[in-house]
Amino acid sequence: MRLLTFIPGSGAKARIGLLRPDGRVLDVASEAERRGVTLPFQVSDMVSFIASGAQGLRALQELQADGQSGPTLDSVRLLAPIHCPRKNIFCVGWNYLEHFAEGEKFRKAKQDLPEHPVFFSKATNAVNGPFDPIPFDGAVSDKIDWEVELAVVIGKKGKNIPEPSAMDHVFGYTVVNDVSARDIQRAHGGQWLKGKSLDGACPMGPFLVTADEIDPGDLRVITRVNGSVKQDSSTRHLYFKIPRLLAELSRGLTLEPGDVLSTGTPSGVGFARDPPEYLKPGDVLETEIVGLGLMRNRVEAVNTSGSPP
Ligand code: MG
Repeated sequence: MRLLTFIPGSGAKARIGLLRPDGRVLDVASEAERRGVTLPFQVSDMVSFIASGAQGLRALQELQADGQSGPTLDSVRLLAPIHCPRKNIFCVGWNYLEHFAEGEKFRKAKQDLPEHPVFFSKATNAVNGPFDPIPFDGAVSDKIDWEVELAVVIGKKGKNIPEPSAMDHVFGYTVVNDVSARDIQRAHGGQWLKGKSLDGACPMGPFLVTADEIDPGDLRVITRVNGSVKQDSSTRHLYFKIPRLLAELSRGLTLEPGDVLSTGTPSGVGFARDPPEYLKPGDVLETEIVGLGLMRNRVEAVNTSGSPP
């Protein structure tokens, strides 16, 4: 299943949908209403749907079976599939060896490869739609960088999850760009939360693809800026694989349905290029994972009040 969260038209509320084989969107809210079906989840909230488990999936499959043709994909506004996460987005740093190596020359002290995954998070305010603008306020940061990443969405609650059964906890996958303000990362003691959490700095989507539809082991991950390829790698180069990440993250920390874990980025980020490159207003950032989908976000100047200057 290719799930999405969308707004069908101006003034309408966000709701979840399903991309049908004909390229149209099954509007779950409208279809349930038309057929007088009571669903075991809130139609406005993907997390509620994921948490409803097998019962929710069955209900959606029934709606899909003879659902009416919905709007075309290009006629709706797509939001991040999980547009209101309950927690920060969990993230992994340095999870592709080439990316670890390209940052070497910028670190003050020699850093060994981590024995355990390096976790941090992006605050929920950063979550952005797959085709929405990324705000750029030069007074806040002019070192805005890109990081294409495969994100894992949790389906089943778990704590101290054993590595061999970790994939049972995965609901599906989506694309994230871990947009990063490098100057802010450095200014605040080298910690990553603030520099990774500016408003709009987490484009996500366009779809949430269920785990039965895709093998995450060898997916091509690409970033383009204004059509020029900046990152091009594969998830087969992940240093810590998904089961290990879930096992380590869940040690003493309960993972719940709808939690998102972004698995790290390959080499080719802007700050490590020679000369360094950063996003500027007007740039178009494309973030793609082949088989999962492509996002296109324009960088848009705002002033400190958040409005266009
Ligand atoms: Mg990252």
